Order: sequence, then C-alpha cells, then structure tokens
Amino acid sequence: PIAETIRRQHEDIVKSARMRQDFTANVSHELKTPLTVISGYSELMENGMATPEDVTRFSHEIHKNATRLLTLINDILRLSELDTGNSGPDFEKINLYESARVCVSMLSLNAEKHDVSLSIEGNPCYVYAGKQMIEELLYNLTDNAIRYNEPGGTVAVEVKEEGDKVVLTVKDTGIGIPKEHCNRIFERFYRVDKSRSKQTGGTGLGLAIVKHVVEQIGATISLQSEVGQGTEIQVEFPLISE
Ligand code: ATP
Ligand code: MG
Repeated sequence: PIAETIRRQHEDIVKSARMRQDFTANVSHELKTPLTVISGYSELMENGMATPEDVTRFSHEIHKNATRLLTLINDILRLSELDTGNSGPDFEKINLYESARVCVSMLSLNAEKHDVSLSIEGNPCYVYAGKQMIEELLYNLTDNAIRYNEPGGTVAVEVKEEGDKVVLTVKDTGIGIPKEHCNRIFERFYRVDKSRSKQTGGTGLGLAIVKHVVEQIGATISLQSEVGQGTEIQVEFPLISE
C-alpha cells in the first residue's frame, strides 16, 4: 500500500508539472498573436509606409489588440490569485438574486446589440461568498449565454431556493456545445470554436475562473446542452438562513 501511495503521488506531481507547462505555452501563444499585430502595424507607421487612411485603420487594430492583451493579462492574474487562495476580501452574506439583477441590467445593452432578449426571474436568496467572485460567476455565465446565441434568441437567468440549496440557472437558446467538448470547456484557454470566440474577444478563461469560484464557495456546477438548441448551466449553492 505504501508503494501504491508513492506511485500515485509521483503521478500527481508529473501531471501537475505537465499542466503548468501547457499553461505557460498557452499563455505565451495567446500573448504573441496580439503583440505581433501591434508590432507589425506600428512598424509600418514608423517607416512612413502608411497613408492617412491606413493610419486610422492601423491605430484601430493596435488599440483593439492592446485591449485584448489587457483583458488577457487581467484574467491570468485573477486565476493566479484564485490559485493561491489570495482571492480578495472575506466571504459575506450575499443576496444572489440582487447580484443577478445587477448583472442582467449591466449586460442588457450587450444583449440588445446581439438581438437577444435577456430576462431575470426569482426571489431574494442568500449565499455565503466573496462579492467579486459572485459578480465574476454571474458575468461570465450570462456573457457566454449572450455571446454564443443566435439573433432572436433568449437568455433566462433564474435564482431560487430548492430544498436546502440556492439554485442559479442560466439558460440560453444559442448554438449549444457538442457532447465531446462539454467537459473540456472549463479548462483554461479551451474554446469550442476558436474563431468565433476570438472574433468576439474571448480568451477562453471565463469558465476556468467560474470553475475556481464554484470550488471555493462550496457550490457545484452542472451543464446540459444540445447543439442548435441551447445550453443550460446550473450552479447549486449551500443555502444560508437570512
Ligand atoms: P472569455 O474568457 O472571454 O469568457 P470564452 O467565452 O471563449 O472567453 P469561456 O467562457 O471559458 O471562454 O468558454 C469556453 C468555451 O465554451 C467558449 O469559447 C465556447 O466555445 C463554449 N461556451 C461557453 N458557454 C457557452 C454557451 N452558453 N453556449 C455555447 N457555447 C458556450
Ligand atoms: Mg466566456
């Protein structure tokens, strides 16, 4: 049995070393693309090889890619904060329904732009968590439901008590996720359709952050999806009394 324990520990060490390597390689790759664009366009302008119209377009590209780098770096820093357990202020009692309402109103303009109708239902329910964590969780799930939707589609956010749990449901009528990808979308940088995600500014870190948050607040997450029909994500939190 001791030999078995040692063997298993060794396997874990090898596995986590490999994951760290993969992560570093992914980060480098993700940083390289926008920096290549920024470097290329600025060099053209520096050499006087851009017409005034080019300058406008190049500056736009440089700005867009710089913004992308900032988002990426923010997400990476946040993940590393969550990794080290250094995740900000202490836990407090939070009205999840109220937080969801704030999130929905914040994203309503975005939904309108995508021609997606966004709704919220439920009643006040309390969970014990970090405020920023809850905001990140709600934002990422709702943002995905809007982003991976179709024009004319819907996103329904619901918060309710069920037995001794508080249940958050985010349900969309979007493009859905093929079965073979369902387990992997919580991995860092994993995107089903790289081009669609990138085009919309995605880094593939949103759900990795969600997964971390869910683990730290003792919640569980489950997913049901049908390609072409939509996706439903549920998060179950332990209920706390008022
Ligand atoms: P970001 O870091 O900006 O959130 P992202 O949205 O690409 O980027 P995740 O939120 O981690 O990254 O999602 C990972 C992938 O899972 C997405 O690229 C998308 O392919 C898929 N996905 C997530 N949510 C949905 C959804 N509601 N419907 C369909 N596909 C989804
Ligand atoms: Mg996302």
